[in-house]
Amino acid sequence: MSTILVTGGCGFIGSCFIRQLFQKGGDPNVNVINIDKLTYAGHEENLPEAIRCDPRYRWHRTCITNRRAIAEILSESQPDAIVHFAAESHVDRSISSADPFVSSNVVGTVTLLDESLAMIRARAMQSDFRFIHISTDEVYGSLGKDGCFTESSPQRPSSPYAASKAAAEMFVRAYQTTHSLPTIITHCSNNYGPYQHSEKLIPLMILRAAGGQPMPVYNDGSNIRNWLHVTDHCDAIARVLQRGRAGQTYHIGGHAERTNIDVVQSIADAVDERLGRPTGSSRRLIEFVDDRPGHDYRYALDSSKTEAELNWRPAVSFESGLMETIDWYLAADDWITATASNVHHG
Ligand code: NAD
Repeated sequence: MSTILVTGGCGFIGSCFIRQLFQKGGDPNVNVINIDKLTYAGHEENLPEAIRCDPRYRWHRTCITNRRAIAEILSESQPDAIVHFAAESHVDRSISSADPFVSSNVVGTVTLLDESLAMIRARAMQSDFRFIHISTDEVYGSLGKDGCFTESSPQRPSSPYAASKAAAEMFVRAYQTTHSLPTIITHCSNNYGPYQHSEKLIPLMILRAAGGQPMPVYNDGSNIRNWLHVTDHCDAIARVLQRGRAGQTYHIGGHAERTNIDVVQSIADAVDERLGRPTGSSRRLIEFVDDRPGHDYRYALDSSKTEAELNWRPAVSFESGLMETIDWYLAADDWITATASNVHHG
């Protein structure tokens, strides 16, 4: 048996990663330990009951800054790998208040690194332990119309969220260099798909269009994001876990650059079609609002290293993934009611 410890496994991406570990054809010899304190963004419902009741799954409702609890969980479970997703993840919230971002994203990461080091130092036998740190393209700052970031691009975070992720990443690198803790860093582009908290662009726009409410778009909507379906992201992380090399950084980017206004208009039209409304009804709900301070214009990742070394390519096209995501949200009343409180719109 091997044991994978996932942090943030009740969030959007972490829960997808766990669902994929347990899906049909998954490895029956894997135990999963999930550490998630359930912030406003974490929901137990993101994992089906079949997983929550599976004897190979265990959840600790614990903050990653709780050093004693983390030490105990690591000592008891002796994971072969940690896949670290837990973080405060919403840029607009980091602009309102950076404190929780410093605590969870920086202090929480350092706590996990320290306790991982203590755990492997206490092991009698050499082990192939890996600490996989999930980071973001946002640490690099903004691009102009052309070019893309490589794994060696300088980091120039614009938002407090991106700064906290960059700081965490510097600690991960330092623990690899100073203490030889075997770490791997991944950077991904914007994820979308089912179970994403409804404050994020795609779910927010679907729910606003469906409810006939204003659809707020920053500035003129010309900012560009590169969209990656969450299942493709988690497939890449599984490959990093199996075959990634310690000390390396891997980019996981989608092949779908779209302006925000293109995405929002596609959602508006698709919702109209699905709800049997005249074409153009939802487009009238789009409202251009003051730009987000420090709003990065464009992100794009060069993922050729990951594609070549780990034989990974995104499998879901943005068009089909977006339509499937819209259908999921339009049919997810129970999940939305259970999770929609405390939405932050900037
Ligand atoms: P999310 O906000 O949906 O989920 C975060 C999860 O972490 C929640 O379940 C929350 O309860 C948990 N958590 C937060 N702070 C915690 C703490 N101190 N202790 C224990 N649990 C805590 O986030 P997500 O979109 O799933 O993102 C996961 C990771 O991927 C993050 O590290 C994020 O920076 C990174 N990332 C996300 C995207 C994206 O598009 N969503 C893109 C690039 C990178």
